[in-house]
This record gives sequence, structure tokens and C-alpha cells, in this order.
Amino acid sequence: MQTSNPLPNTASQTMQTVAIEVTNEHRAEVQRRAYSLPVTIGRGGTCDIQLDPDNRAISRVHVEIVEEGGRTILYNRASNANATRVERRGLQPGERVELHPGYSIGVFDYTLKLLEPARIGIAVADRHDLTVSKEFHLVPGSAIIAYESPGGLVVEAAASLSEVKTEGLGGNLTVLFYYDGDEPTFAILANPAQEQVLLDRGLIRQNALYLRPFDTIEFGTTRIEVLNVGQASIVCDNPGCRVVNAVDAGSHCRLCGTPLNIGGPTLRQRRI
Ligand SMILES: [Zn+2]
Repeated sequence: MQTSNPLPNTASQTMQTVAIEVTNEHRAEVQRRAYSLPVTIGRGGTCDIQLDPDNRAISRVHVEIVEEGGRTILYNRASNANATRVERRGLQPGERVELHPGYSIGVFDYTLKLLEPARIGIAVADRHDLTVSKEFHLVPGSAIIAYESPGGLVVEAAASLSEVKTEGLGGNLTVLFYYDGDEPTFAILANPAQEQVLLDRGLIRQNALYLRPFDTIEFGTTRIEVLNVGQASIVCDNPGCRVVNAVDAGSHCRLCGTPLNIGGPTLRQRRI
């Protein structure tokens, strides 16, 4: 299947991502996000995770997390001994340590914890031509809000459910994806014009439901596909269906039974 894949980014199937929770003990800040490796952490503005830019004891690039042979490796780039801690043990400059979910990394008053990797992501696409414009990982604890605006759909990721700001959105269709506790969930926060919101072509009548991989949600000109991180997907060719399917779950659409055109243009090797 992979050898006949016409799309160029087959390597993305093995691309490793990590979810990191950053806590600052003095500022009572917590943020959680998913990152594709490599991830740079330091006080420099070009770092993926920027720590306090005014703290000169933190190096511009203090720590790098890289993928090596399927393993997640922390490379300590701090120039002073014990300026980085992994599981409370101070590291030497240049030291490399393999990381596992649950490990914590200490840099001054910051604690960075490796979370269980995100298993679910959402892809935001155009409902008519199926072009994907944005992709997000749904990290446990995090939330993604999407609302219609005159300029198009706005999608914002929040580090936690409590950070989602809903003031001023009452006039627009607003939906929320969140992962709080065990189950990833979809909720319709506001729908003043009573627009149709569809799940797998069926009207959603409740305000919240649990998400499952390959759910296909549509409203207005927007289509949102729920995906398993790292798993290829394919869109059903039946023009009256077009839900997204797992490539390896079978050769026919899970909803309408149309044969899936594996190797055709709607096969998606996502970067998600
Ligand atoms: Zn179908």
C-alpha cells in the first residue's frame, strides 16, 4: 500500500510527536501542547518552547529533544553542570538522556513533563474541495475552539479547557473539541442561526458527544475530520457520502459500503 502511495510525505507516518506540559512554579502557569520532533527549549525567541527570556542563566537553546531510531532523546545544550535536571538528576553539559512518557525535565523554575502522546487529532478542511488547511493534535487536557467569522473559520488551540475564552462569540456558530478526563469530546457551544451540524452526514441533535477516530463533522463550508495520529486515512469517493475512513480497516467505506479507492487521490498520508 505504501509503495503505491502517490503522495510524497510517506515519512510522516513515522514522524514522532511529543506532548509536553510546561509548568512555572512562580507564575502558576501550565500549558500543554504537542510538538513534532525535534523540539528546542530555551530563552531564545526561536525556541519551540520559550522559557523566561530575561533569565540569563537559561541558555538561548538550553535543551533539545530529538528522535533517534524511534527513541526520544534529550540533548542537554546548557553550558553549566546541573542547569538541567531529568527526573531530578542534574545533567552534565552535552549529556544525552532517553526520555519516556511521565518523565520530568527541570530548568530553573520550570518543569517540563512529557505526557502520553496524543492519539487523536483533527484536520480542518474545506467541505467542498476537501483541501485541508489546518491540523491539530488533541492532547489530553487541551482544547480546540472553532468559530465562524466574516473572514472564515477561526480555529484556536488552548492549553486547557479553562483557558477557552467564549466571550463575544455568542453571535457565531462555535464548536469545541476537548480532551478532559478519559474521552475526547465535541461540543456545540453556540449555534444562534440553527445551522446544520452533521456527523457522518447525520444531523447532530445533542450539544456534546464523544469523538471517535474518523468521525467526519461538517457545518457551513467547513469539514472537520477526526484522525488517529500517524494513521493514514481515505475519503469515500461516493459524492453523497465522502466520510473519512481508516485505510487499514477494510476495503469498503464504513458508512455507505462503496469500495475505497486505495491509491487514488483521496488517500491521505497525513502529517498529523
Ligand atoms: Zn461512503
